[in-house]
Parts: sequence; C-alpha cells; structure tokens
Amino acid sequence: MVARLRSQGVTNEVVLAAMGVLPREIFVDEALRMRVYDDCSLPIGQGQTLSQPFIVARMTELLLAAPRPVRRVLEIGTGSGYQSAVLAACGLTVFTVERIGSFLERARARHAQCGALRVRTLHQDGFGGWPSQAPFDGILVTAAPEAVPDALVAQLAVGGRLLVPVGAQGAEQRLCCVTRTATGVTIESLDQVSFVPLLPGEMR
Ligand code: SAH
Repeated sequence: MVARLRSQGVTNEVVLAAMGVLPREIFVDEALRMRVYDDCSLPIGQGQTLSQPFIVARMTELLLAAPRPVRRVLEIGTGSGYQSAVLAACGLTVFTVERIGSFLERARARHAQCGALRVRTLHQDGFGGWPSQAPFDGILVTAAPEAVPDALVAQLAVGGRLLVPVGAQGAEQRLCCVTRTATGVTIESLDQVSFVPLLPGEMR
C-alpha cells in the first residue's frame, strides 16, 4: 500500500510511515479484511464508508503542510476510527467528533487496540466543531457539507488549515483547503472527491 501511495504522489514520509505501521484491517469487519489494503473505499455500516488509502494520505499530507506547526487537530466524522488513528500515528493530538454513538464506541476500542492513545472523542453533531478545545492547528472533515462551515473556520488557529470536501448531494464535490491568515482566510479548491454527506443531528 505504501509503495502504491508513493506512486500516486504522496511524499510526506511521516504520513507514509504512519500508514505503513498502522493495521488498517482492524478498522473494518472481518469479511472485508481481504480488501482492506486495496485502492478503494470500504463500507463501515449505516451507509458510511472508510475512505480509500490515497484520500486518507492526501488529506493528512495537506493538513501537515500548513504554514504553522501542526500539533492539535480536529477531525469531524470519526467513522471507523482509521483516519484519527493515522493522525495520532503521525504524532498529533487528535480530537474527533462523530454523530453516530455506536461508531464511536467501536472506534475507541480500535484506538486502544492499536495504541492510538492521544485521541479524544466526542459524540456530537460536528457542524459546530469542538469549541471548548479550539483553536486547532488543523481540521479535517471526512463527510461533505454543501458549503464550508463557518464554525469550523472560526476554530482554526492563525496559519492553521481546514480540509473539507464541499458539494451538494449528488453534485460534484471538491476538496477545499481553507487556510486562516492574520487578516482572513485563503480558500483553494483542489481534487474532485466523493464523500458521504455531512448530516445534522446525533444518533445512537
Ligand atoms: N474518517 C472516517 C470516515 C468516515 S465516513 C474513517 O476514517 O473511517 C463519514 C463519517 O462522518 C460517518 O461516520 C458519519 O456518521 C460522520 N458524520 C456525518 N455527518 C456528521 C456530523 N454532522 N458530525 C459528525 N460526524 C458526522
């Protein structure tokens, strides 16, 4: 998988090392383990998906390339827990928010299993971020809102980056990179991507 990620253009050695050591197979059901290192996204239940390795690597690499040192990061959409474990394996302190409670319970157990100790979880609608822990050096959103959520931009430190797939349901989505500057924000529209929608409200 790491060799393929390199051939796909991922160059950050911290990200490649983290993904090389982390057992991706513990983040999916046993029936899917044969395919877990393939270049594809995988179902994790409730119509949600674990992103393909390239997207996980790409978003992590972009997050780490922020103009300020990146230490504390927020993820919206814990899902299987894999992306947050990758961030932790990169040496980051991770705060992750998920709207589906049963996902969080499983993700916590998997984090314990793979030694991802610096991950804190919150069962909440992630549109509002995690204000009591803000500001963050980076924020990564792993489900797509129709527009960049203002509340998340407000929780970025100066020089911090927000990576978020943006697009209406059924329409084209683009990965947006929002960087907070001393005077405002810069917004770049990057790769075309395909994420499940960011949905309001919480569930058990
Ligand atoms: N990062 C995940 C992939 C998650 S799929 C992983 O590594 O497996 C998208 C996730 O976002 C789903 O778990 C979904 O429940 C969650 N989600 C969707 N809308 C949300 C919201 N408003 N707040 C928090 N989580 C949300």
